[in-house]
Amino acid sequence: MKINVAKSAGFCFGVKRALNIALHTVKYEKNVCMLGDIVHNEDVVKTISEAGIKKIGRLSSGKGKTLLIRAHGASKTTIRKAKNAGYNIIDATCLMVKEIHKIATRKEKQGYKIIVIGDKKHDEVKGITGQLKKRALVIDSLKSIPSVTSLKKYKKAAIVVQSTQNIERVEKIINRLEKHIPNLEFYNTICQPTTCKQQEARNLPLKNEVMIIIGSKTSANTKRLYEISKSLNKKTHWIQSQKDLKKVWFLRVNSVGITAGASTPDKTTKEVVERIKSFSI
Ligand code: SF4
Repeated sequence: MKINVAKSAGFCFGVKRALNIALHTVKYEKNVCMLGDIVHNEDVVKTISEAGIKKIGRLSSGKGKTLLIRAHGASKTTIRKAKNAGYNIIDATCLMVKEIHKIATRKEKQGYKIIVIGDKKHDEVKGITGQLKKRALVIDSLKSIPSVTSLKKYKKAAIVVQSTQNIERVEKIINRLEKHIPNLEFYNTICQPTTCKQQEARNLPLKNEVMIIIGSKTSANTKRLYEISKSLNKKTHWIQSQKDLKKVWFLRVNSVGITAGASTPDKTTKEVVERIKSFSI
């Protein structure tokens, strides 16, 4: 059985950088904490917690504490509140996310209505809208596009996209919006690692009999890889680790394609490969 692992499988540079910053910071600072999990992956969260970084649900007194801003970024209000509460801030926001912040703030200053295509509840989207003075319009699906009358109120608008969105879905939304907003600018802020991952998730399912997608069930970017792959190859399975593999999936199978979300450690992918190999012995 041939096993083909996507070149782009696993950590993106933004997650690697955030992890490195976190593990470096905890060596030199006491009382390091972050608002929420560093990434949507249970193994990585465990590593961070064992290193001594505490996950907090909300800000309290920050005296003598360091707050790590995760790769997703944070709103201006969160940073201001944290500083006022006395936290020392270490910013591990991914540079690609920072770029989205810059575009959105610049276009808002130029008088554009900001439209964010992304998951309303995702911290990255909250971080983007949280850079702005006015309320942004967040669209997460065709269904959530406002009425034509509401759209016609916007004479000029600029669209930015959550870094891990699926471009095909985004294009469908833009096609609808451009019919009603006369001056609409689109900034494709889907990051390079996401683009590569999604391209491979479109190619591998056509060239392999079975597809395995590795990542936490809470990871939005893994979910997108799964959806793309499943739409092209019905024998696509989404697993969190080698423990979820079933031997029966590989019976009389000659080729298996594997990819993994941006928050899946290489170790997890290697373990999956080894387990699949053991099935063919
Ligand atoms: S998915 Fe893209 S934007 Fe998000 S952390 Fe990774 S590189 Fe940065």
